[in-house]
Amino acid sequence: MSSLGDESGPGAGSTRLASLSAPATAAPGEFELIRRYFTAPCAFRPETLLGIGDDCALLRLGPDHDLAITADTLVSGVHFFPSTDSADVGYKALAVNLSDLAAVGAMPGWATLCLTLPAAETVWIEGFRDGFFDLASRYRMDLIGGDTTRGPLSITIQAMGLVSQGKALRRSGARAGDAICLTGSLGSAGLGLRILGGDFVSEDPEPVRRLLRPEPRVAAGRVLAGLAHAAIDLSDGLAADLGHVLTASSVGATLDWDLLPLSPEVRRYVAATGDWIMPLTAGDDYELCFTVSAAKLEEVEAHLGDLDCPCRRIGVIEESVGLRLTRNGRTEALSSLGFDHFRASRGMVG
Ligand code: ADP
Ligand code: MG
Repeated sequence: MSSLGDESGPGAGSTRLASLSAPATAAPGEFELIRRYFTAPCAFRPETLLGIGDDCALLRLGPDHDLAITADTLVSGVHFFPSTDSADVGYKALAVNLSDLAAVGAMPGWATLCLTLPAAETVWIEGFRDGFFDLASRYRMDLIGGDTTRGPLSITIQAMGLVSQGKALRRSGARAGDAICLTGSLGSAGLGLRILGGDFVSEDPEPVRRLLRPEPRVAAGRVLAGLAHAAIDLSDGLAADLGHVLTASSVGATLDWDLLPLSPEVRRYVAATGDWIMPLTAGDDYELCFTVSAAKLEEVEAHLGDLDCPCRRIGVIEESVGLRLTRNGRTEALSSLGFDHFRASRGMVG
């Protein structure tokens, strides 16, 4: 996920807490670092269907289901303000993992929890536990293990889920001509961050709620498995995350600004600040971005409608590589706007 105050573009930066000094210019970016040092061929185990590079790894362990596995870390002062209510931290630490399971269409099943705590503050831990189990019990997940250590506050959760054999969604399946669709709306969590950081004044509680309590699109993901061609969850911002789908699928795309689902408060922010880049680059929305053939679009919309899950077509997949945006009658390249934790002036990996 993105760090606090991590986005580039107009208006960004003043809420930055993640102020580890920028690495030397030759230092690799987050994804280059993973690619260079950790991406292995996964040749040892025949059960490994998919290793590093997608929202979840996939293992084939039996005849009916594939096992989807993901892990995410939240670091205090990087991914959440140290003053954040611990129940919100517990909820979100699990929610961001469920969002990765949703992105592959898996049903959540199990979690492990690794907690690094500066001190055994029982009130903080009780709140964290309540937030965590609120969500875990909603999805009938078992907490099956973890680790507890002393140190600067950070939480790592690994989540596992099941998806019907061969039906998992991947980033690599997008095809030219596919519609690009988005659940929910864009930029609300980014606006919540700006409100909490004192950069924007709002009476609307929704943006901060979206930042603190994202709703993983688990049911939507399960419907999309087998119908959509590709999917990803939005943790680092639409431009960066759709960029991963385009790279993995060797295609390009053009988005239409007029089709982007923006809440009235996000529209008010954009009008007041001129910061139209924010909804495209701000992280933490945890919506699903997926691509689907034009022939299947209506069916997908009907299924998501049955779930009361908003869905909007926002652009089209094209053969020509790169990400473009049509706005005010002009089409511009957007590829350079993505988020990367290790780029100059960015914080740390997340
Ligand atoms: P997401 O935003 O969906 O959580 P990330 O951008 O964090 O995904 O990670 C991209 C891919 O790289 C994922 O497949 C993830 O499992 C993998 N990955 C990240 N860090 C490491 C690491 N240190 N070692 C191995 N794999 C990693
Ligand atoms: Mg993801």
